[in-house]
Amino acid sequence: MRPLVGRRLDGATLALVDELGGVGTPCWGPTGLLRDLSLRLGLPIKSAPSSAQDAARVAAFARRMARLVAREAFYAKSFEMDPIGTAEMVLSWRDTLVEAGWDGERVAGGGPRLDALAELEEHDDPLPSGAADHLAAAEVALLMLHQQHRPPYESIEITDDIDAWPGRWRRVFSLLQQAGTQILRPSEPSGGAEPGSDLDHLHRVLLDGRGATPSSEVRGDGSLVFLEAPTTQQAADTVAALVNEWGSPAPVFIRGGERSALDHALRAHGIATLGDARPSRDRAAIQLVTALVDLAFAPLDPHRVLELFDLTFSPFVAPVRRSMARALADAPGIGDVRWQSAKRRLVEAGHSIAPIEAWIERARWDGDHGAPTADLLELVERIGLWLQSHIAPTRSEVVVATLERCAQLADLLRREERPTLPRIAMRRLVDLVFSEGISASVSTEQCGRPHHVDHPGAVVLPCSNLVWWHFVAASTRLPHRARFRHNELTALAAAGVRLVAPETLLAEEAWQWRAAALRARQRLVMVVPAWNRGERMAPHPFHDEIVARLMLDERALGRITVSGADVLARRHWHVDVEHMAPLPLPAARPAWHVSPGITIGDGSFTPRSLQTLVECPLRWALEHRPGQRARRVPAIPHGAQVNGLLAHRLVQYLAQAGSLNADPATIRAAIDRLVPGIAAQLLLPGMSFELHQLRHQLTVAVMALARLLEANAMTIEAVEEDLAAAWMGVNLVGRLDLRLRRADGRDAVLDLKWGRGKHRKDLETGRALQLAVYALALHLRAPAGPAPSTAYFAMAQGTLLTTEPGAFGLRESVNGPPVGEAIERLARTVPAVRTTLAAGTIPVTGLRTSLPLLEAIGIPRAEREQHLELEPGDGCAHCSLGAVCGRDWEELA
Ligand code: SF4
Repeated sequence: MRPLVGRRLDGATLALVDELGGVGTPCWGPTGLLRDLSLRLGLPIKSAPSSAQDAARVAAFARRMARLVAREAFYAKSFEMDPIGTAEMVLSWRDTLVEAGWDGERVAGGGPRLDALAELEEHDDPLPSGAADHLAAAEVALLMLHQQHRPPYESIEITDDIDAWPGRWRRVFSLLQQAGTQILRPSEPSGGAEPGSDLDHLHRVLLDGRGATPSSEVRGDGSLVFLEAPTTQQAADTVAALVNEWGSPAPVFIRGGERSALDHALRAHGIATLGDARPSRDRAAIQLVTALVDLAFAPLDPHRVLELFDLTFSPFVAPVRRSMARALADAPGIGDVRWQSAKRRLVEAGHSIAPIEAWIERARWDGDHGAPTADLLELVERIGLWLQSHIAPTRSEVVVATLERCAQLADLLRREERPTLPRIAMRRLVDLVFSEGISASVSTEQCGRPHHVDHPGAVVLPCSNLVWWHFVAASTRLPHRARFRHNELTALAAAGVRLVAPETLLAEEAWQWRAAALRARQRLVMVVPAWNRGERMAPHPFHDEIVARLMLDERALGRITVSGADVLARRHWHVDVEHMAPLPLPAARPAWHVSPGITIGDGSFTPRSLQTLVECPLRWALEHRPGQRARRVPAIPHGAQVNGLLAHRLVQYLAQAGSLNADPATIRAAIDRLVPGIAAQLLLPGMSFELHQLRHQLTVAVMALARLLEANAMTIEAVEEDLAAAWMGVNLVGRLDLRLRRADGRDAVLDLKWGRGKHRKDLETGRALQLAVYALALHLRAPAGPAPSTAYFAMAQGTLLTTEPGAFGLRESVNGPPVGEAIERLARTVPAVRTTLAAGTIPVTGLRTSLPLLEAIGIPRAEREQHLELEPGDGCAHCSLGAVCGRDWEELA
């Protein structure tokens, strides 16, 4: 056998497919060669390393380090902070040394770090073999083979410089040679492009390497092209069109990056796809495992819980997921009123809530103190059992792979010697097993596809057309800086341990770029998208070398640079182009015209939906119209939203307990009791300052509220009171935060808000609709008496906002009309809106071309003072329908 061997030849190569032959020649990288060599030498075969195997090695090495760490080795401090991460790093050093020829002995003059590595190596704790250990075993076997003179191969052709291989590999090649295997270098690429073509000029300067060709010789004949496009997708479409135009033979692709975009374009142009499988951590099954493990620890992160309910692959059925996600978005925590009532509704609807109790509501361990390792093992095994029971229904390779990783995680926990694991340590173990993600097929490799390789070094035979896809800097794999110090490298070299110098690797890498270019005979096209996934792309470093060697000035560079637009305009190649007009964006229409008959009286109106009706009837029609439901993706509230939620719940809780006038310590205790159920994110690491400040702010606000009530002899009559009243043919419904009883026996409405800016403005302009609706609903309940007084209480500032200062014992007030006036004006406005909608016209109020609502619904100018009109576009700030009504596109029109 005469294999071709190269460092970049693990994976797809061009060696077997070129018209010049090579069929039947094995083509191996280090992994392939070691596997075959082991087979021939009767050694255990090293399969491709999986992250699960690596995880087991790292964990075993960490145990070994734990035994020696007391001796103050160089890694001691890091190991104390992060045992797994440190073990991962030190093990990679150890493997590098073994691959370079180290046998685990002390290196004379190597210094304390190499001594510590030798000490670790002497330890007799078992360490699963890695690729470097398999290579060492092959070397030993070859030594014995040498005595018997049986060469495993007739010859080996090595594509790259022998110095670019680590020391032990060099020794293995040498032993093979001694055993009778010929070690050969394949012939160097020699060009072969059409004489006088641009590609030929490039070949000549790459081959002689001394001088440069004047740029005037470069004509732009299409044999050497930098193909530019604004985005990866546009570049892919252009390339696919060109492949069709060129016909046979199809080009060979070097796939630098973004394979799926290329495959999509090939498929769209009727060309067989190259196939792609991509590892990702964002697989639902992986997210499920990591989230469930993380939720074993306190504090609980509500984002993690929402993530669980967002997953389509989880122990929760769809109605449970939807309902609990909404509850979580309303009150981000577990166990409070909304959580419990969501569960109750699910039970009433006949759904099982056992999975919620089993997976989410179970007791949690403190993240800092840690969980018993045995309990974590039990949890991981339970997750594994659940996955096992769901493999058959899904038939998913990802679920199978996740189950294997889960078993690996369980195995690590079984071997774990720490009795408890803090959250961070458990996360490291989970990371170790899942960090590389799980590969799943993104597109299929189809029969008759063009040939492709992953690295220019794998183009080992000539080809007619070579397309270097994603010829960008981001696709280069440059060598790492040496991990060892100068004195260590000197001592290692003296001991026969030969690491590969980074400059050697760099030189070899650069040579492989040139060699690939030299193997193109007819056409070399290097594809450079300007942007990929929102990131600016810089051209590949080889671009600069080509420009420099050919001495390209701007004009010459322009001759060989082709844009996607040039191709579409057929300035360079005659590709088939069908021009299609882009689909128009939704038009921004100031009114929608639909079938007549939209009614507004069949459902219930909350203050919010009533406000939306007069703010923007289109938004009302899409979000609140009876029978219409806008589904939002639930999201965890944050900032002022979550502060307001907690403030409401706190006042409700204290008022119901009759302890609104409690001392500060009791109020703070109540806050701490409520936070896990309604604002759990405030307990996460990094949030202690926010929580501390909020605790103080809320305590001061509650005390101010209690003082206000006491000073005016007001009592709390109802908390979170449901109100309902029939008004103008519609049902008004709402939930009033606090209904107060004044000293004179009259009711007062108090609505809690977090901030005060917007609500002060609403009072000043007579648009405090929410207060007005509550007051109306209360008044309709007892129409004989006077209308209740109304006020907002801003919790952030602990201040009352009202236009009726006397009713609340204040000297200062907000300067605005009586709140009840809003209802009178609303009562005149709603019938006109109703008539307009019934006629099939839905006004849109927030567009540049919108008419003011009162004009749009036909209210004569002289009567507008008597109606309610909100500021145009007022509701747009919190409306998510801008893309539907066209407001989002107005800038582009
Ligand atoms: S974005 Fe403004 S104009 Fe458009 S639907 Fe929403 S509220 Fe109406």
